Amino acid sequence: MIVVMQKGATRDQVDHMAQRVEELGLKSHVIIGAERTVIAAIGEKRDYMRDALESGPGVERVVPILAPFKVASREVKPEPTQVVAGSLRVGAGTIGVIAGPCSVENEAQIIETAHRVKAAGATALRGGAFKPRTSPYSFQGLKEKGLEMLSRAREETGLAIVTEVMAPEDVPLVAQHTDVLQVGARNMQNYRLLEVVGQSKCAVLLKRGPAATIEELLLAAEYILDGGNKNVMLCERGIRTFEAHTRFTLPLATVPYLHNLTHLPIVVDPSHGTGHTYLVPDMAAAAVAAGTDGLIIEVHPDPEHAMSDGYQSLDYRQFEETMEKCRKIANVLGKTM
Ligand code: PEP
Ligand code: MN
Repeated sequence: MIVVMQKGATRDQVDHMAQRVEELGLKSHVIIGAERTVIAAIGEKRDYMRDALESGPGVERVVPILAPFKVASREVKPEPTQVVAGSLRVGAGTIGVIAGPCSVENEAQIIETAHRVKAAGATALRGGAFKPRTSPYSFQGLKEKGLEMLSRAREETGLAIVTEVMAPEDVPLVAQHTDVLQVGARNMQNYRLLEVVGQSKCAVLLKRGPAATIEELLLAAEYILDGGNKNVMLCERGIRTFEAHTRFTLPLATVPYLHNLTHLPIVVDPSHGTGHTYLVPDMAAAAVAAGTDGLIIEVHPDPEHAMSDGYQSLDYRQFEETMEKCRKIANVLGKTM
């Protein structure tokens, strides 16, 4: 249910109603909107609860939440959410750009890349230290050493860091070195990981599983939101279909579709979404045209010699050109990029 407070409701009234919700055995999420404050009351609903809440001080009305996902829904919060994590801003008219290599390979690589993508307009640095690889014999990432290199890149450039966390027990360590915890496509439905990430102070980039529906993606986000972490970005990174000409199939209709259902910002990954360097610039531009709130793009100083995903990485020049192209479209749409 959503407890919609009156326009002039006081802080005391809001606190009182949040407490009433908890007393009924439901979880309360206070959402302060531009127009008014609402309290999402989540849990098993009983008939008497609605009347009990509707008669409370400062309450305008109590309405059911129709969507299966609750805190993520536009019913609860009509205004778009902007996620802010260090230098990165994503959503509500601002397009954030996260760029960097698939994997952190060495300190010189990550620091040089950080400087170059920042100069081209990126607002965050990506780089995997814990890598989920299909084969156990592939490069698995530099783990803690890689995280330390990301920290040094942040110190040098001021760029926010986005890096993947694969296991619940690694969350505290990764959180020490990053601004955004990336939950990878393979872990989208690792519910224990989602719960732990939901308790973190770091923002989260939740990638869509290649076989997950949009509803499953939103319900996965709901785990994180329900844990109390409101800084969640959803990422469309391509799904698996019968089509084999690209690594995954990148459905850009996801962007406006999600914007209809949720206030959470959407980030598109044209690198994993296509799996081919030459397709990335156009699909990045198309994502901006479709209304994306952010992009995550793999950039490597020497893609041919990358330790992972070189075939879909841009070099510096290609990234600069992609940024120019995307910025033109963002300008037409009246967005900041
Ligand atoms: C990545 O970002 O390098 C990555 C492994 O992405 P995904 O989880 O989308 O495959
Ligand atoms: Mn990759």
